[in-house]
Amino acid sequence: SPVCILVLGMAGSGKTTFTQKLIQHAQEKFNPYVVNLDPACREVPYAAHVDIRDTVNYREVMKQYQLGPNGGIVTALNMFTTKMAQFAELVRRAGERGHKWCVIDTPGQIEVFTWSASGSIITEGLATMFPTIVIYVMDVERSACPTTFMSNMLYACSILYKTRLPFLVALNKIDLKDCGFVMDWMTDFEVFQEAQEEEHSFVSNLTRTMSLTLDTFYENLRTCGVSAKTGVGFAQLLAKILESVDEYETDFKPVYEKKR
Ligand code: GDP
Ligand code: MG
Repeated sequence: SPVCILVLGMAGSGKTTFTQKLIQHAQEKFNPYVVNLDPACREVPYAAHVDIRDTVNYREVMKQYQLGPNGGIVTALNMFTTKMAQFAELVRRAGERGHKWCVIDTPGQIEVFTWSASGSIITEGLATMFPTIVIYVMDVERSACPTTFMSNMLYACSILYKTRLPFLVALNKIDLKDCGFVMDWMTDFEVFQEAQEEEHSFVSNLTRTMSLTLDTFYENLRTCGVSAKTGVGFAQLLAKILESVDEYETDFKPVYEKKR
């Protein structure tokens, strides 16, 4: 059965652009089946096999239920999720037709997917049926400030513990800024602490404790610098995806099999 790759990340981190480049690089070997779950996007730069916009008209939903943009997106996702069984069946059949991967682009606002019932139903539904991994796309340029970096990492951490799936961080936009500093912050706690101290005259106990907590999170974290714009780093990324899939088979599958 196909490997499902959930692409998550903050708004503007580059999920959609990343999805496009990923499927381009994976085309030959993995013939990806492509899914767009963002009901509010105008256009996507790839040909989607399944597009939530074909099943739900987000603007109509907003009008009909008098919702704001976020409410509209959540409701559209809920409507899509009522057809979860059919969706899973589509993915399964795609696997039979030779699609080795299923790449899933998610709504711009991350919380819509990660903290909604629908997001959980889709994630768990896929993970119980198929090897499933999460790629967390992070904007390196916007993470240059230590505090922003830490909140982004805490968010990633919370998703890891919530989904309990193999987790790969794509440090995106390295065409704009080298991701070396992120790697340094993640491997050496002192370096991060110094950067924090440069930013604030003092580092509070809370931020200190939080960065210590993150330290254990980093130890088991797979990261890869990429540029979704230029395609740099994608060869290495593919290799790390395969590692994550192996991890699913050994560490995660047993957990999800119990849930079945
Ligand atoms: P999404 O909201 O997470 O789906 O983000 P998008 O894929 O729509 O990208 C947000 C913006 O970042 C767009 O203007 C993209 O062109 C830009 N972008 C995405 N990836 C890269 C990258 O690797 N490098 C640069 N320079 N820009 C990028
Ligand atoms: Mg997008």
